[in-house]
This record gives sequence, C-alpha cells and structure tokens, in this order.
Amino acid sequence: MGMFDWYKPVPDLRCPICEIVLGDWQGKNADCALFLWQQGVPYPIDQITGDEECCISEEVRKQIRLPEEFEFYTSCENCPDYRIVAECKTENGVWKNVEKIRLDKKPKLPRKWFDRR
Ligand SMILES: [Zn+2]
Repeated sequence: MGMFDWYKPVPDLRCPICEIVLGDWQGKNADCALFLWQQGVPYPIDQITGDEECCISEEVRKQIRLPEEFEFYTSCENCPDYRIVAECKTENGVWKNVEKIRLDKKPKLPRKWFDRR
C-alpha cells in the first residue's frame, strides 16, 4: 500500500507563473506511506490512508525522518502544461526550507508514436 507521501510547505508555496496558492503536494522520495510531512516538523504529522487500521502507531511515526534531499510536486489548475516541483533539503533531519521551485513541462507523446506499427 502507499505510493507517495503528502507535503505541507509552511508558508504555502505559490505558482511561479500565475501566483495562486498551491496545495496537494505529493512526493516519492521518502517512505511513500501516505504520510503528511509539514515543513519544520521532523516527523510526519499524520498518515492519511482513509483507514485507521492501516496506520502505524504514533510512537513509531515519530521516529521517521525525511531523506537528506527530496522533492515533491503538484499541478496548477491555471497552468496545465506544467508540473510544479519543489526541491528541498533537511538540516539535522528537519525540513527547514524549500531550496528551489522548478517548472517541468508535462510530456506530450508525439503523434508519430501512436502511428508507428
Ligand atoms: Zn499557475
């Protein structure tokens, strides 16, 4: 179970193009157990599985840390051609700040890819 974790930057990050506040950040560099990581807190503040029984205990959760470098991403409703990626590092195991926000152009499959036999 679990394919990614949730991330909550504090303060909220804005779209570099249209400047609306973004949410629903997801990333795959940590445990991918649907943890909710909040900037400034060393351990995941929650685990959002939709099912209490799948959650690990709070005691165990508080032992978990982010990797030294990680990134997470979201989409902007106004800017559908891009994926917005935030690159972060931890300091002594704690997520202190967002190093960089980058725009990745979403790949479009070329037409000939479909026509090829
Ligand atoms: Zn935007």
